[in-house]
Amino acid sequence: AAKERGKNRYAFYQPQLTEQAEYRFRVEQNLREAVEKQQLSLVYQPQVELFSGNIIGVEALCRWHHPQLGEVLPTEFIATAERIGMMKPLTEWVLKAACNQAVAWKRAGLPPIRMAVNISPAQFLDKYFVSLIQYVLEETGMVPTELKLEVTESVVQTDQQNLSIFRELKDLGVLLAIDDFGKGYSSFASLKHLTVDCLKIDKYFIDDMLVDRKSQTLIAAMIDMGHNLDHEIIAEGVETVEQYQMLQQFGCETAQGYLLSKPVSPDSISKILKLNRLTHLAHLDANPLHL
Ligand code: C2E
Ligand code: MG
Ligand code: MG
Ligand code: MG
Repeated sequence: AAKERGKNRYAFYQPQLTEQAEYRFRVEQNLREAVEKQQLSLVYQPQVELFSGNIIGVEALCRWHHPQLGEVLPTEFIATAERIGMMKPLTEWVLKAACNQAVAWKRAGLPPIRMAVNISPAQFLDKYFVSLIQYVLEETGMVPTELKLEVTESVVQTDQQNLSIFRELKDLGVLLAIDDFGKGYSSFASLKHLTVDCLKIDKYFIDDMLVDRKSQTLIAAMIDMGHNLDHEIIAEGVETVEQYQMLQQFGCETAQGYLLSKPVSPDSISKILKLNRLTHLAHLDANPLHL
């Protein structure tokens, strides 16, 4: 009878939800061995200096290809990793892989660029985080000032401990960026409390900047405020020439987005870096992307 009831109750669930739950469960089960089974990889998205068109950095973005599940979205597996306590090994893997790549590009004679790595708030605030960074720098031979850590402003919401983490990281020489700036609840508090080098204006503002005066005003204000605090500004999610040009007018110095390049394989990045030019943008020269 219990079985019957169970069956009946099951019938009330929407099939879509059940599928979703099942998918999540499989993601969870398989993620534990993704690192060992070498299923993770990194793609890199160029960060471009607006006035010169030069690539001055790349952001490493994690990808997970599972033989049965296929490509699992980062937002899905990052959240899962947090939930099941896999974030620590994942962060360590990403940091090492990104630094090794940066060092390899440099040894191959490519122009120096900064490597940006995303760090989840929980990892950033972990008491071993600073020594992990120190260890990775030593082991890979990465120059500290060429490594940039991207964290969201949620790191500001906890206690005093994070202030010392920021200070210790600064002492090591690594660069710090506030990711998705403006989207969270403590943007001003993060500016007041944290010693950072860079603000990344969230795509949320860039998306409608051409049609929404409010977004324009807020972007211009973030750029001015950031500059007055000596922060570099990166605009994320730049998809059109018009956005790029407006950002240029507003005095933004760096842009990242599909207009410039999607995240691509290390091989593609090394080809792009050899030319230090995004060739597919050449036709825009008259426009001009390269002033
Ligand atoms: P994020 O750090 O804000 O990264 C930017 C995301 O926007 C990336 O998505 C990138 O592919 C996408 N993007 C860049 N330019 C454009 C554009 O012009 N248009 C559109 N529509 N999208 C654009 P992705 O790779 O799917 O990553 C999503 C998020 O997952 C990242 O957001 C980051 O929070 C997280 N993530 C990715 N890799 C890692 C990692 O290694 N560690 C941690 N902790 N988080 C990661
Ligand atoms: Mg990021
Ligand atoms: Mg971002
Ligand atoms: Mg974002």
